[in-house]
Amino acid sequence: MIYKRSSALFTDAEKVIPGGVNSPVRAFKGVGGTPVFVKEAKGAYLYDEDDNRLIDYINSWGPMILGHAYEPVVNAVIEKAKKGTSFGMPTEIETKIAQLAVSMVPNIDKIRFVNSGTEACMSAIRLARGFTGKDKIIKFAGCYHGHSDSFLIQAGSGASTFGTPNSPGVTQGTAKDTLLANYNDIKNVETLIDANRGEIACIIIEPVAGNMGCIPPKEGFLESLRSLCNKHNILLVFDEVMTGFRLAKGGAQELYGINADIVCYGKVIGGGLPVGAFAARSEIMNHLAPLGPVYQAGTLSGNPLAMAAGLAMLTELNSDAEVFNRLSEKTEYLHKGITKVLHDNNVPHTINRVGSMISVHFDESEVYDFTTAAKGNNDTFKSFFHGMLNEGVYIAPSAFETWFITDALTYGDLDFTINAVNRAVKNL
Ligand code: PMP
Repeated sequence: MIYKRSSALFTDAEKVIPGGVNSPVRAFKGVGGTPVFVKEAKGAYLYDEDDNRLIDYINSWGPMILGHAYEPVVNAVIEKAKKGTSFGMPTEIETKIAQLAVSMVPNIDKIRFVNSGTEACMSAIRLARGFTGKDKIIKFAGCYHGHSDSFLIQAGSGASTFGTPNSPGVTQGTAKDTLLANYNDIKNVETLIDANRGEIACIIIEPVAGNMGCIPPKEGFLESLRSLCNKHNILLVFDEVMTGFRLAKGGAQELYGINADIVCYGKVIGGGLPVGAFAARSEIMNHLAPLGPVYQAGTLSGNPLAMAAGLAMLTELNSDAEVFNRLSEKTEYLHKGITKVLHDNNVPHTINRVGSMISVHFDESEVYDFTTAAKGNNDTFKSFFHGMLNEGVYIAPSAFETWFITDALTYGDLDFTINAVNRAVKNL
């Protein structure tokens, strides 16, 4: 494929935007080459500035569950925009989407909307600290909760891709309050709690990790975290920025039957517009300003365009009882197809999948935490990525990312992808 115009646009961008991108994961630093510039997208396809058509497995890193330019979402945004784009005053639609979200998700009474997943997680831990009166948090190596200071400690996703899981600029004072545990290692969590008795406000976790590839929680792991939290008066925070409204209507809480104390959302809840949210029982949420002392605010929070897109999106997901099954079945089909191709071509691999989240690791051993995720063969991944791109299939430009499946994909698209894998692996 030709990427002439994308390359020229990237050269221009690099002069005025650091690294030519507004978020590092978009750069091809991990895989080499220049990023593809998108002109437009519809359904399961991206169309780039060189008029190549690519099947999209990033889907804006999760939210385009129903496909790009999904008509009910687009129409809702257009109609809202005609009536004004921001007021800094309450609007009815904020209550409507809050009512719908609260009705879809178990165990939450109130929700507050923010502008990104980063803000949601940052606010959630402040609330946890304010509510419990304790300072420390436990996070898991390889989990990513946005780029706020407390979380840039062994962060996954782009931070790991670029070799900066611990970022300069995060003070030691902040870092000392973030304790680090290994994903799927409950003994490790217990040891940390014992060593910091009475000091831990919350444990924050991606209930299915999506930022070191896809890593499912081992059986009983989330249950054990829940009971440890109960025992030690620690809040359990589920970061469902990727899993919320994707794995099930009620996200990972519903899928695994575990109640978290605070839940963070992003992406999906805005139907592709900049939105995040955090939610909990009233008892906890009432600690937020203006009811309580924990301060949190935002000029554009609950923005009418974002709320209109989010309401249209959640309404669709709520009314289509089969959507989550369909997504899961399509992903399983892809899983089986890719497994067969890799097996037939003797390519060492491990594929992890939960519902419509899937990742291919180029290593045979089980991938269940950050260390095992990092073992994957990066050179193989790089050439796989470029092979797939050349075949017209766009996957995330990093071995630490998950593929997100959209319902807009047809079985024909999935077969096309499996055939593309077959051709791409011949040149690994
Ligand atoms: N939490 C998780 C689990 C995420 O995957 C991400 C982003 N990929 C975030 C938080 C941060 O969200 P945002 O990029 O919208 O700030």
